[in-house]
Amino acid sequence: MTSSLHLAEPTAHSRGSRPDLDEAARAAAAFLRALGVDVDEPGTRRSPARMARAYAAMLTPEPFDLTTFDNDEGYDEMVLVRSVPVRSLCEHHFLPFTGVAHVAYLPGDRILGLSKFARVVQLFSRRPQVQERLTQQVAGWLDEELAPRGVGVVVEAEHSCMSLRGVRVDGAVTRTCALRGAMRDPATRAEFLSLVAG
Ligand code: ZN
Repeated sequence: MTSSLHLAEPTAHSRGSRPDLDEAARAAAAFLRALGVDVDEPGTRRSPARMARAYAAMLTPEPFDLTTFDNDEGYDEMVLVRSVPVRSLCEHHFLPFTGVAHVAYLPGDRILGLSKFARVVQLFSRRPQVQERLTQQVAGWLDEELAPRGVGVVVEAEHSCMSLRGVRVDGAVTRTCALRGAMRDPATRAEFLSLVAG
């Protein structure tokens, strides 16, 4: 049996209405002017509106249906989806951090459509985030919604707030990991981490 439930995971910032792009564009213009940027030039006249749309896109997850299936075949080995794209916004600087997530679970009674892993990662990426919390949220969501025997999530990302400003460390990759259930067992954990390493 296929079961599908509509995903209504409201994000903290979007529990109210949809983004007000006009207001956001006005605020972006004021923000840029306050920084000494001329937004009345031909090249920059439409930039505040573009900024508003770009940030709205980065902060608004696309709704999706969570499709799960009965585990009819009794598949009980690890399912791992490697290198799911991560594009999120650091909540401290509102600069992007980007990278990949490796998401694994040990199936119980239900299995998840493979394309949904990217959807779940996107769901929690398109909000003001810190990488540690993003990793935990993806793992926690799969644990709750799928009730698997175990979940493992590794996120590897480069933070532009570190590479563009401050200490300016180019190419530094931050790695975070969240393990739930049987994925914490030493042998399973070692298998997961070796599969992630490829
Ligand atoms: Zn930051």
